[in-house]
Amino acid sequence: MINRKYIILFSALILVLGMLANLTFSMERAVHKSGGVTLYPEDFTNGIRDLTARVLDKNDPAIDSYSTTVRGSDLSEIHGDNLHILVFRLNAQAYEVYFNGIHLGTSGDMESARSHIYNGIGNFVIHKEYIKEVNTLTINTHSLYMIGLEQSPVGIVCCDTARKITEDVTFRTQGMTMMGVGILILGIIITLMMIFLSEKKNHALIFFMLSVVFLSIYSLEFMYIPHIAISYIWFRKIIILALFACIFFLGLSFSKYFNSRQSVILSSVLFGLVLLSALLVGNLVLFKQMYNVFVPAITFNFIIWIIVAAKQYKKMDEAVIFIWSFVNLLLLAAADSIQLLVLGGIMNTSIIMHVMIFSLILISLFYIEMNKRNIKIRQESSQRSHFYQQAITDQLTDTFNKKHVLALLSDETPPYTIAMIDIDSFKHVNDTYGHPAGDYILKHVSHRMKSEFRDTDIIGRYGGDEFIVILLGCSEKHAFDIMNRFRMHVEFDKISHDGRQIPVTLSIGIAYCDKKYEYEETIKRADEALYRAKETGRNRVSL
Ligand code: GH3
Ligand code: MG
Repeated sequence: MINRKYIILFSALILVLGMLANLTFSMERAVHKSGGVTLYPEDFTNGIRDLTARVLDKNDPAIDSYSTTVRGSDLSEIHGDNLHILVFRLNAQAYEVYFNGIHLGTSGDMESARSHIYNGIGNFVIHKEYIKEVNTLTINTHSLYMIGLEQSPVGIVCCDTARKITEDVTFRTQGMTMMGVGILILGIIITLMMIFLSEKKNHALIFFMLSVVFLSIYSLEFMYIPHIAISYIWFRKIIILALFACIFFLGLSFSKYFNSRQSVILSSVLFGLVLLSALLVGNLVLFKQMYNVFVPAITFNFIIWIIVAAKQYKKMDEAVIFIWSFVNLLLLAAADSIQLLVLGGIMNTSIIMHVMIFSLILISLFYIEMNKRNIKIRQESSQRSHFYQQAITDQLTDTFNKKHVLALLSDETPPYTIAMIDIDSFKHVNDTYGHPAGDYILKHVSHRMKSEFRDTDIIGRYGGDEFIVILLGCSEKHAFDIMNRFRMHVEFDKISHDGRQIPVTLSIGIAYCDKKYEYEETIKRADEALYRAKETGRNRVSL
C-alpha cells in the first residue's frame, strides 16, 4: 500500500538533515578563530568552588558571585572599540555581568529567578577605555538547582564575531525551535481536521496528536524566556511532564496501532512516576535527581517499541514508519553524545529533529488512513452499484425490469417508438418442451434483441413472455421495418434445447410517441396493436 522505500529514504534524509542541524556549535573554536579570549569554568571562583556545571549542594547559596581576572594585554589585541562578553549555557535562572565593578547587564530575573535563560546567549558590551592592566570579570548568579557553565566557555570577542556567534546560536536555538513549533501546530490542526472529518474515531491518531501537542509544550525547554508567570520549579515540572506525556501518548498510539497492550506499560509507569514526583517533590534538586533516572528509561522504551514493531514489519506499513523513526531518534541521541564527547560542543540546540521525525510519522499515518478510507469508499460504491444493478434488472433475461423501464420512460424526451413483443403460444412451448426450454427461449429472444437493436434503445421484460423496446428518435415506419426484420430473424433461428428444435414466432405491436408525458397511453396503444397482431393470426407486426 505505502511505498516502504520512500519511508526509508525520507528517514535517512531526516537523519542527515538532523545531523547537519545539530552539528556542533563550539563557542571555543569560534572565539579562538576570531582571536578572542576564552574563559573556562575553572577560571572563575566564588572563593570555594569554580563554575564547573554541577547540581547545587546544601552549602551553596542561591545567589552567588564568581570572578576571574583577565590581563589587559590579552584584551587590547581584540580589534574594535568595544569588547563583547558572550555567555552561553550558564546553568542559572538569572545572572548579571560586571567588568571591573561596572555593571554590564543582566540576563533573566535576578530577584525572583523566574526566568529560563539557559538557551539564550548573553552578549554584554563594554568600551575598551575601561580596560586596565589586570581586570576583574564577575558573574553574579541566581540558581535554584544547578550552577555552572556547561560545555561553552565565556568568550570575549570583537563586535563582528559577537554578532556572528549570537546570530548563529539564536538561529540554532530560538529560530529552529520556533520553526519546529510552527510545524507542530500545523500538524495538530490538520490532524484535528482529519479526526473531525472521520465518522469513526481513529484513537491511534488522536493519541499521536496528543503526543505532538505535548512535544510542542516540551519545546519551551529550548526557548529563551526572560520572565515566567509561574514559579521556576513549576515551569520545570511542566516541561518534564510534557516530555513524559509526549512519550506516554506516543505509547498509547503505538499500542493501538500494533494492538499490543504491553507496549504501553513502561511509558505509562514512567509518566505516572514523573507525575507523582512533580506533585510530591517540592525541591528542584531532588526533582532533577529523580527525572535524571527516568530520562534514560525513554531510550529503553524506544528499544522495546522497535522490537514490538519489528515483529509486524512484513505485515504492517505502520511498523516500517515507527521502526525507522524510532531508530532515527536513537541514532540522533547517540550522535549527540558522540559529538559532545569528541568535539566537546553543545548538544541538541532545538527540537527541529524531533519535529521532522514526528512529521514524517504523521504524514505517513495520514497517508495510510486516507488509503484505507479510499479503499472502503470504493468497496461501498461498487457494492452499492451491484445492488442497484440487481434492483433494476430482470435476472433471467438480463434486460431491465418493468419498473425501471417505466422510470426511464417517464424521463425520456420524445419522439420515440414503443414496441411490445410477445412470444406466440408460449404456454404451449412450456407444456411441450418443459419450463427450462421456455426459459431458454426467453433468454435467446432477449439476447437477440440486445445484439440487433441499438445500444441507446431501451430493452426490458414487461412480464411473462412479453418484452418492451423503446426505439429512441425512431419513426413508426422505421420501427416497423426493424421489428419485422427482427421477427423474421427469430422465426428462422434454429433454436434447439435438449436436442429438440423449438419453433418460435413473435407478435409485435408498435406505437409512436411525440409528446412528453404520454408514455402510458403509448404503451397502451402498442399493447392494442399487439392484441391486433395476435388476433389477425400471430407472427406479425401491427401498428
Ligand atoms: P399468446 O400467443 O396468446 O401469447 O399465447 P401464450 O401461451 O403465450 O399466452 P400468455 O402470453 O398468456 O402466456 C404466457 C406464459 O408464459 C404463461 C407462463 O406460464 C409463461 N411464463 C411466464 N413467465 C415465464 C418464465 O419466466 N419462464 C417460463 N418458462 N415461462 C414463463
Ligand atoms: Mg404469449
